[in-house]
Amino acid sequence: MGLVFGPVYSRRLGVSLGVNNLPYKVCTYSCVYCQLGRTIRLTVERRRYSDPRRVLEEVGEALEGRGPVDYVTFVPDGEPTLDLSLGEAVRLLEAELGVRVAVLTNGSLLWLPEVRRGLLEASLVSVKVDAGSEAVWRRVDRPHPSLSWGRVRRGILEFSREYGGTLISETMLVSGLNDGDGEIAETAALAAEAGPRVAYVAIPHRPPAEAWVRPPPWERVEAALEAMRRLGLDARPLHTPEPPPPPPPGVDPVEWVRDTVRVHPLPLDYVERLLAGRGRSLDEALGGGVVVVEYWGRRFLAYRPRPRGVGG
Ligand code: SF4
Repeated sequence: MGLVFGPVYSRRLGVSLGVNNLPYKVCTYSCVYCQLGRTIRLTVERRRYSDPRRVLEEVGEALEGRGPVDYVTFVPDGEPTLDLSLGEAVRLLEAELGVRVAVLTNGSLLWLPEVRRGLLEASLVSVKVDAGSEAVWRRVDRPHPSLSWGRVRRGILEFSREYGGTLISETMLVSGLNDGDGEIAETAALAAEAGPRVAYVAIPHRPPAEAWVRPPPWERVEAALEAMRRLGLDARPLHTPEPPPPPPPGVDPVEWVRDTVRVHPLPLDYVERLLAGRGRSLDEALGGGVVVVEYWGRRFLAYRPRPRGVGG
């Protein structure tokens, strides 16, 4: 697996070429619903995890071979702003390849001016807003102990004021954790203060880090959308197309399946049908961390590698 994967279909971004600038599950959070499994290295220490020139080169080659995309998206197996090279990579990609770059961040390090600066040149930034209070933030996102809610909150708001690109927010509702009327009102208030172009509300429907995580009833999603709309936001549910869109033309279906599950699990029956229809087998997609997992009586293909050299 290189730095670049896909293109894969993204619910928010359309056709997206993914950039994975981090080792697996290095994150400032260990969200209970994370579809990549539990965080292996919970950290706030920023390091030079990737080489911006190499990112530029690999994205350039991928775009030549795999066709046009809507976005080149930093969507790593962790928190992309932990990479000290992120800002430089964003700048190079936008300036030298003329592509639109998106960064999906949990927003936990936006209180650092250098992190905010590094994101200013991205065309789109998606920031996580799962909570409007410290208690709920700790329950849902399980942040690194050194992170302060006040700072994280202020950082998100500061960035929203400085940023001139397209800011979107994403809220994941988890049954019993942040789907009550009070929690929804607080989350909606923070989202409204940040003022994203679109505020997405999602529920877990793929295998989460914690098996006890349950999606709330759809009525709770509607309550959250309503609360956000009352505060003037363009709030939308983040639906997962069923079945997911097929691989783009010219892309090897096995590679596409393996790349997609690096971002999110895929229903197993869908993968089997897709591969069989193209004369390929499920066995080709398995291995190297790609495994079958079960969630709520449904089987999925997911990426769950053994930790390797990222502990501490
Ligand atoms: S959902 Fe994102 S922020 Fe949360 S643990 Fe997973 S990678 Fe980190």
